[in-house]
Amino acid sequence: MAHPTYDCFIQGEWIPANGKQTLEMRDPATGALLAHIARGQAADINDAVQAATRALSPWASRPPVERARILHAISARISRERDALARIESLDTGKPLKQAFADATAAARFFEYYAGIADKVLGASIPMGSDYMDFTVREPLGVTAQIVPWNYPLQISARGLAPALACGNTVVLKPAELACLSVLELTRICHEEGLPPGVLNVVPGYGYEAGAALASHPGVNLLVFTGSVATGIGVMQAAATNIVPVLLELGGKSPNIILSDACLDEALPAIIRAAFPNSGQTCSAGSRVLVQHNIHRQVVDQLASLNARLQVGPGLKDGDLGALISKDQQVKVQRYIDTGRDEGAEVIIGGQALAGTDMSQGHFVMPALLDHVTSSMRVHQEEIFGPVLSIVPFDELEEAATLANSTEYGLVTGIWGNDLRSTHWLAQQVKTGQVFINTYGAGGGVELPFGGYKKSGFGREKGMDALLSYTQVKNICIHVQAPRH
Ligand code: ADP
Repeated sequence: MAHPTYDCFIQGEWIPANGKQTLEMRDPATGALLAHIARGQAADINDAVQAATRALSPWASRPPVERARILHAISARISRERDALARIESLDTGKPLKQAFADATAAARFFEYYAGIADKVLGASIPMGSDYMDFTVREPLGVTAQIVPWNYPLQISARGLAPALACGNTVVLKPAELACLSVLELTRICHEEGLPPGVLNVVPGYGYEAGAALASHPGVNLLVFTGSVATGIGVMQAAATNIVPVLLELGGKSPNIILSDACLDEALPAIIRAAFPNSGQTCSAGSRVLVQHNIHRQVVDQLASLNARLQVGPGLKDGDLGALISKDQQVKVQRYIDTGRDEGAEVIIGGQALAGTDMSQGHFVMPALLDHVTSSMRVHQEEIFGPVLSIVPFDELEEAATLANSTEYGLVTGIWGNDLRSTHWLAQQVKTGQVFINTYGAGGGVELPFGGYKKSGFGREKGMDALLSYTQVKNICIHVQAPRH
């Protein structure tokens, strides 16, 4: 069977990488070859940045409503191609089809949302007395570099692209080498729906080659990065050399706090869904449960029985969890479970690989529950990025807040309970960019500002706040006086 080859997309054309090399893309559930992608390197990044620089002025100076119309058309096209995009995303990342379908829906929604505000990026008028007229305008930053991870390629690309383009920026995007086929299909859609040449350029390839070349390119005006803390530090250091702003989204260790008066029938299925989307390879996964002591036993038993019902298998079989992205990831996750056991946690269920005739090549790990975790354990502190949910009991609200804040991350907190004062007090105390009470994620939340406290990063994606990330303010002050005759 012939497999497609995806080139670099530069100045509105698909062109092979200068080095003519390609990388193989494989299905993490079966190891089957899916496609080849260009192995972009520094020369390709340079071509892409130059194309984005040339396209900037015409794109930025267009009436915003014209940019909005193109974004609307891209959104509609993503919706029309949703089934095909979801299938590619599922095969490439390993995630269940319905989760990939939700990603495609969110991608369409990002373009729709930012199309709606492209012509409403307003400035302010500032009172200075009768001698001055003063106002601000929000201008695009210029060429934005977007480095995208493998866990949500389609959704995260759309999340960065839509506001960047709406505000009049151009883009050079480097998708992840482990999964990026949906991004290349999205690139095709953007082109076919009228995005002018050079406004979006995409260079696939390795992080240490194409990614590093993009992060350090002096022609870039904003670096948008989603990925690990270690790589984020390198990206920020590269940005420092060129004095370029960075928008960093670096993961988390997000808790769901269950108070004794919570409705467990609502909370526990939601907590399982929050822990294991994309097999836990989700920066905002709710990977810790903090539960009040008097309901601890009951919560563990119920979570274990919900966990036991989860279906694990290839993405296209559309169960609850798919394969992890790579063998390395599978090994890493299983090592963490062993570490947790060695540190004194109790593995209630899960953690084993999935052996089966058609799945022996796949990187599967059964979803695991670890009880009696304490805050000093590595499984409590570190982002595992796999299907592992740790459970920590607490007595008083203050202890819950301390435990919630006891990691170096600060992305999301879920709080489950019915006493208004307790839930709101906790919402005030936790150091995370998002707090959900009696829900988690609110169905994707394109409208809700998203980003981290502490080592989860800084800057905000999504919602209106993303406009602040993708524009800079210019203040214009005019001295006025009555004409003298
Ligand atoms: P992971 O370790 O889970 O693969 P990374 O943070 O390394 O996560 O990857 C996220 C994105 O960053 C990917 O597109 C990857 O190619 C890219 N990347 C990796 N290393 C670098 C680097 N040194 N400079 C810039 N981008 C990089």
